[in-house]
Amino acid sequence: MNWLGEKMKDLSIRLKAFGDCLVWESLKQHTTFKVGGEVMYYVYPKSLLALQRVIAIAKEENLPLKVMGKGSNILASEKPFHGIVVNLDRFMNNTIFDEEHIFVEAGASLIFVAFEAMKHDLSGLEFASGIPGTIGGACFMNAGAYKSSMSEIVEKVWVLKEDRTEWMSAQECEFGYRSSVFQKHPDWIILGVMLHLKRSNMQEIKELMDSRRERRMASQPLEWPCAGSIFQNPENQPAWKYIEDVGLRGHKINGAMVSEKHANFIVNADHALADDIAELIGLIQTSVKERYDVDLKTEVEMFNWND
Ligand SMILES: Cc1cc2nc3c(=O)[nH]c(=O)nc-3n(C[C@H](O)[C@H](O)[C@H](O)COP(=O)(O)OP(=O)(O)OC[C@H]3O[C@@H](n4cnc5c(N)ncnc54)[C@H](O)[C@@H]3O)c2cc1C
Repeated sequence: MNWLGEKMKDLSIRLKAFGDCLVWESLKQHTTFKVGGEVMYYVYPKSLLALQRVIAIAKEENLPLKVMGKGSNILASEKPFHGIVVNLDRFMNNTIFDEEHIFVEAGASLIFVAFEAMKHDLSGLEFASGIPGTIGGACFMNAGAYKSSMSEIVEKVWVLKEDRTEWMSAQECEFGYRSSVFQKHPDWIILGVMLHLKRSNMQEIKELMDSRRERRMASQPLEWPCAGSIFQNPENQPAWKYIEDVGLRGHKINGAMVSEKHANFIVNADHALADDIAELIGLIQTSVKERYDVDLKTEVEMFNWND
């Protein structure tokens, strides 16, 4: 084994003390687009203490660190990532119900929490019952649907900044349309969230969730790997309308295709590479800019594209 191989082996042994650690793990397994290159270390920390140690090791070893949830809003390049990805969804995912409040650890699945809230007769998370991310990822981008979003139910957010933890009020989180203060501070890690929901009735909540699910199934290409809406909606009209009007509905670049069902979705229809999807995004942006002078901004995050 060469010097790098020895060093990686030593580091993976150290990291394994703090949680599950996968070495040279393909992001295809961890993004809903099913694309992306290999990451040197993919770690599921066992606890907050373990997470803090993993961060300390990353610093000592001068390795970049990225937190990921379900990878449902990420377009990762095919390049190797010489760093550590931490994922909180395996161990840091508890939920505690306290009357109208829920304390949720950041790794919990948003869909799971929405269903648990329903079982507790708590309303407010119906919009989230089809969003396949974690609570951390949902706070990071203020996920939303059907004119509701996380900002309406988040009371405060528990955050790791450097090596201290802090509760931030909803106001301090600066939630906006698919945005939050966390996007300005990629080194902060959301550990948990206190949600405030409204008491309601399980049957009513279930009916609303069922009707939302039917709408999603009818309008979104959920049978294909994808990352939800590719672009944010500009002010004047929805992004899908611009894409349709420039004639790109159904357009393909190798295995990447603009969905026939919903033109603001790009799907991995046939072994697409990240570059195929990125090229299709670029083509849409250029076409819409040329025809309408409108800049379509991606909702999906590009990860590990620049050196
Ligand atoms: C079929 C489908 C439908 C979708 N529908 C919707 C929808 O209706 N509305 C909507 O808003 N989105 C939708 N999405 C997009 C996506 O599910 C959401 O944006 C979700 O909130 C992303 O969560 P995640 O855990 O997958 O985050 P990831 O994609 O893993 O990460 C996204 C960003 O969040 C950051 N992040 C994640 N966890 C943390 C943390 N603990 N602390 C700090 N930063 C963190 C990451 O670093 C990254 O920058 C959809 C996606 C799919 C595939």
